[in-house]
Amino acid sequence: MNLSFRGIWVCLVVTLLGALWLGEVRTSAEAGNEPAYDIVIRNGRIVDGGGNAWFWGDVGIRGGRIVRIGRLEEATAQRIIDAAGRVVAPGFVDVHMHVEGGIEERPAADNLVADGVTSIVTGNCGGSEVKLGEWFGQLKQTGLGVNLASLIGHNAVRRHVMGTENRAPTAEELARMEALVAQAMEEGAVGLSTGLIYVPGTYAETDEIVALARVAARYGGLYATHMRNEGDKVIAAVEEAIRIGREARLPVEISHMKVTNKLFWGASAQMLEQVEQARAQGLDVTMDQYPYTASSTRLDILLPSWALAGGREELRRRLADPSERRQIADEMFAELRKVQGYKHLDYAVVARASWDSSRDGKNIRQINREWKRKDNLKQEIQTVLDLMDKGGAQMIYHRMDEKDVVRILGHPLTMLGRDGGVPAFGTGKPHPRSYGASARILGRYVREKKVVRLEEAIRKMTALPAQRFGFADRGLLRAGFWAD
Ligand SMILES: [Zn+2]
Repeated sequence: MNLSFRGIWVCLVVTLLGALWLGEVRTSAEAGNEPAYDIVIRNGRIVDGGGNAWFWGDVGIRGGRIVRIGRLEEATAQRIIDAAGRVVAPGFVDVHMHVEGGIEERPAADNLVADGVTSIVTGNCGGSEVKLGEWFGQLKQTGLGVNLASLIGHNAVRRHVMGTENRAPTAEELARMEALVAQAMEEGAVGLSTGLIYVPGTYAETDEIVALARVAARYGGLYATHMRNEGDKVIAAVEEAIRIGREARLPVEISHMKVTNKLFWGASAQMLEQVEQARAQGLDVTMDQYPYTASSTRLDILLPSWALAGGREELRRRLADPSERRQIADEMFAELRKVQGYKHLDYAVVARASWDSSRDGKNIRQINREWKRKDNLKQEIQTVLDLMDKGGAQMIYHRMDEKDVVRILGHPLTMLGRDGGVPAFGTGKPHPRSYGASARILGRYVREKKVVRLEEAIRKMTALPAQRFGFADRGLLRAGFWAD
């Protein structure tokens, strides 16, 4: 990992009631005597990140690293934190972030730090900076509130070389993409990511991804994938992810594992079996998840991908052409009504439409009615197309089943990946995951629903993701590890 920005370091203290930061309790640096530690955290229940049972202990920290864990009642420190009644755990590691375009403006990343997160992996779902070295350099200059690593995104690389063209790359184009992946890996990328529902990644055949994943594999990277389908074809999509891992010989991380088509709710059981079978055959597959039944992504995913080729102006041209518009609407109707079983688009809520904030927080069915259209799916599809014509929107889609969320969360191979960013506070009606995913795991799924033990939940947010992405000295409370 070349990329560990040391920003504000923190030692995480979580209460059994939820995550919160403790302020300074007292200073014990006595005149004349050099204190033994910079910080001692006393009287907490230690959950070390490895999944082991909690134990009572104190943590001594010097120079940003954990020096000792044990009984330190007599030790002197510049600062002593009394953690009585609370849990002391490693800083959380979130492996599925999208901070590009947010963290540059808000480098303190308060929303993450307040939710206990101290290290992140960004560049997911195929979307990353292409020139990672330059970007890391800029971030280093600013300094960040969290440690940051990035994947190199397939969509970013493909767009850089081929635009949004709906075709296979030429040999020369593929070679250029491979060179960009190699460069990013040399500059510190932790692997290759794909977003196979998004333009232009959706136009890629499996072989193209295998070729690029092989380059990441040469540098010890992994393959993280927003799969080609999370609904009716999700089983085939898991199969494709595993095949890429097998053929390119690298570990696979299935991103935000879920089932989004209500007709296929329950498929998570089979997906988890696929993962376990792959592991039994020696393929290293794991997954991440955000603990919600709503997803968040763009409005354009409701359109057939061919309609998005060539960019925004091309789309507007197609929407203005009556026969092309009809074809787009017909395909959407077939998908939404027949494949996904929806009668209305009330599950689809606008999080943010940059061109008109009065839509924020309303669902498509409501907007359709406000526009005095008939209350049916066909008209709601026309409303989506009009919204796309005006500039699209960031959306929230309520389309998962709690049972799938719980089943995936309870699996030992699942780690935290909130799929959020560093949003400007107070803008739009965003998905809450950017602010509260860790607190929700601890509050709703550990304390209330008892889906996982506290120690296991902490492991999913610390040691497991740290090991997965190669953060060698983070994610555990151990002497010598960073105290964040
Ligand atoms: Zn994604």
